[in-house]
Amino acid sequence: MSEESKLREQICLLAKSMFDRGLTGGSTGNISSRTSDGGLLVSPTGASFGRLDPGRLSRFDAQGNHIEGDDPTKEMPLHTAFYDTRSTASAVVHLHSCHSVALSMMPDANADNFLPPLTPYGIMKLGRVKLLPFFLPGDPAMGEAVRGLAGKRSAVMLANHGPVVAGKDIEAACNAIEELEETARLAMLTRRMNPCALTEDNVQALITKFDVEWAR
Ligand code: ZN
Repeated sequence: MSEESKLREQICLLAKSMFDRGLTGGSTGNISSRTSDGGLLVSPTGASFGRLDPGRLSRFDAQGNHIEGDDPTKEMPLHTAFYDTRSTASAVVHLHSCHSVALSMMPDANADNFLPPLTPYGIMKLGRVKLLPFFLPGDPAMGEAVRGLAGKRSAVMLANHGPVVAGKDIEAACNAIEELEETARLAMLTRRMNPCALTEDNVQALITKFDVEWAR
């Protein structure tokens, strides 16, 4: 099997795994990955994560021309905003995941540091997560808001909508977005229960030991 065929299979397998565990439903969510020739593979518009077809993924060449497959997700500007501003980004995933959306709607949501410091991996895999305001679906302003972060964040949360995470490869991006949703779930489960979160010292120690991007 060619390298690209393996990547196509991997994208569909990871998407189906997230769909099967209820991390994004219906035809929501979109996923993309760089190919070895500098192009992109992107999930098609209107496609369900549960039923992505490796042979029908949208294929772009290194110049950004759509050369093969179905039309791409209408949230494409979100994906290209990450690729254009983060040289380390080789994959981008976006979900409509329940608990992170719930946390984004809380009146005391922290826009600069969306996830409370509850577990180490939330910090290690995501860094500081930015909460962006609500945008209409497909509004190019969403991509512009990500570009406005100048590549300093690997993960953003779109209020009342869902998270978007970039990673060094497709598996890293999926692992990180799952950690985002899991941390948001913990935050909602323990909300108003005064949970013992990590201390500021714990957080600093994690950032130092694991070389976490913690940009403001
Ligand atoms: Zn969306």
